[in-house]
Amino acid sequence: MRAAPFIKLPNKSLEAKVQFRYGLLMAIMIAIISAAACASAAEFFQKSGPLLHTFVELKAYGDNETADVLDGAFTEMERVNSLLNNYDPSSEVSALNTASSRRWVTISPDTFEALNIAQTYARLSGGAFDFTVGPLVSLWGFNKDQPGLADEDPSQAMIKDTMRLVDYRALKFIRHQSVISGRLEHSGMRIDVGAFSKGFAADKALYFLQHHGITSALVAAGGTICAVGSKPDGQPWQIGIRHPRNDSSFLTVVALRDQSVSTSGDYEKFYYKAGKRRSHIIDPRTGYPVTAIQSVTVIAPTGIASDALSTSLFVLGPADGIRLIKKLPGCEALIVTADGEVVYTNGWPQKTIIY
Ligand code: AMP
Ligand code: MG
Repeated sequence: MRAAPFIKLPNKSLEAKVQFRYGLLMAIMIAIISAAACASAAEFFQKSGPLLHTFVELKAYGDNETADVLDGAFTEMERVNSLLNNYDPSSEVSALNTASSRRWVTISPDTFEALNIAQTYARLSGGAFDFTVGPLVSLWGFNKDQPGLADEDPSQAMIKDTMRLVDYRALKFIRHQSVISGRLEHSGMRIDVGAFSKGFAADKALYFLQHHGITSALVAAGGTICAVGSKPDGQPWQIGIRHPRNDSSFLTVVALRDQSVSTSGDYEKFYYKAGKRRSHIIDPRTGYPVTAIQSVTVIAPTGIASDALSTSLFVLGPADGIRLIKKLPGCEALIVTADGEVVYTNGWPQKTIIY
């Protein structure tokens, strides 16, 4: 699989049919197209609400117990959020963040699973994806709902000092019988789960749905969507990928069947500094926010994989990013660079891309 050449279609090729208008769904980065619009004996159910600092939507086909199953899946996502949310002082991740570097903190199997998988992606990406990026996220003013800096930009010395607190390898685990504990090796280190918790929570909801007999469903958490099976008529789910510079049109539409898709975008959390957009994904290797990318979309077998990888590729950029994806079975990627070039893997399922 080789990276496809840069594709840039002229604006005049915009077709009316890709100009979907969505209202509320525009709040999420990628949208589910016509989930309720296919004929089937099974009934359609949905459940949605704010969660994980975004908007969560569950959609499923099934019998009259499906509404209760969707409630259960949503509760499952709330449970995962209460373990991982680094902005909630009572979460297990916050306990790791605030413990002294000498103290081991007991964590649940779910928290261990999420952090352990996150560590795998940190390793795979060579540290481009690093969930201990928290101190840099704060340094650049992205640790709040309205991002920005009250003062001057941080000095080079401050950036360097802060980078010393960012190292995914410094999260250690020990297991004593069935009890797992974790520890950050240096005081001041901060785990930030923003790049993978939505994917992990969506996976947990998906397993819950499958466990309760659901065979046709979608779980959407912000920029991540996980598909259970296909639509009841056997057709794949159609997921619209938001155009990074036009929130009322789609860049492309991908068909999903038992897969997940995530988009990381520079339009999600950003502010302007000296007329330039500065967005929320930071390169832990330089200490600076990434400016070379508008958006990255990754298709992968699980939600945590697509979520962690879309952030990874945002940092890695097209050349290294596509190289990484080529090594990972079942994964495809589409990248829009800052100057509007679109790069995607040869296995990318949909070749109609309108930038
Ligand atoms: P996403 O939208 O999934 O790409 O996640 C972006 C969020 O992940 C940011 O808002 C930060 O909270 C966090 N983050 C920023 N840079 C990184 C990075 N290099 N590795 C891991 N997490 C990051
Ligand atoms: Mg992510």
